[in-house]
Amino acid sequence: MQISTGDREGDGTVQEIHRTAIVTGASRGIGAAIACRLARDGFSVVVNYKNDAQAANSVVQAISQLGAHAVAVRADVADYSEVVKMAEETVERFGRINVLVNNAGIVRDALVQSMTEEEWDEVIDTNLKGVFLCSKAVLKTMRKQRAGRIINIASIVGQQGRRGQANYAAAKAGVIAFSKSLAQELAPWQVTVNVVAPGFTETAMTGCLTEQARVKILERIPLGRLCLPEEVAGMVSFLASREADYISSQVFNVDCRVV
Ligand code: NAP
Repeated sequence: MQISTGDREGDGTVQEIHRTAIVTGASRGIGAAIACRLARDGFSVVVNYKNDAQAANSVVQAISQLGAHAVAVRADVADYSEVVKMAEETVERFGRINVLVNNAGIVRDALVQSMTEEEWDEVIDTNLKGVFLCSKAVLKTMRKQRAGRIINIASIVGQQGRRGQANYAAAKAGVIAFSKSLAQELAPWQVTVNVVAPGFTETAMTGCLTEQARVKILERIPLGRLCLPEEVAGMVSFLASREADYISSQVFNVDCRVV
């Protein structure tokens, strides 16, 4: 089945064309939910992953069952040559890149006094430098199209900080500042850049919390449960849609906590 949907071309007309999204770190968790949601919205999806090809292929299979196009592409977001290749492959296969969702992320939690340089660098390289490199890799295409959406997944931790997550908080705060700067640079080409900042979400990343840490987190969440990946995907879907044409340089928290 050929997926087509309305989109704005450079000349301002709306045509029925094929829309394509790259979702980094889409082999599981929030990224997988975003990939499936965008496929349901009519996008062809590049399911990026670094290590788990089997999981990425399962996401591709789930998308195919929805009747949409998807392909799994291995690329380390912290490696520029790999992400450039991913962007080139996307254009070769689908003809364009309408949406980039920078979702790939890792944690290496430790108190600053015991955090190693390696733990600091790994998190900054994947969670912050990766956003820079992937955005840079799609810019030429989006500018040429005079259309595009970059949606960066940060975290409420990037706004509030969190004991034991100084590397992660710094990277996510950096993503917010980077996005606001890039939004200003790309506005003349009608390319928007926004941030989605989820609260604690049920994925493998929070699966490793101790029962004690989980109880402590839940005590501070008025709705009494963690966020679901599909709830983050809903916000991304909105930002990728025509409804969000006039929204750029903004941060959207998917959270219910009062701070
Ligand atoms: P997750 O379940 O651990 O999944 C992380 C994904 O990122 C996996 O698909 C992994 O793929 C991929 N990945 C990791 N390093 C990569 C790299 N260098 N290059 C390409 N892909 C890479 O995490 P999640 O909870 O879904 O988190 C997704 C995003 O949401 C992250 O940016 C995270 O910081 C953010 N976030 C999460 C929460 C939460 O509570 N879960 C809250 C706020 C924000 P492979 O396994 O194949 O390498």
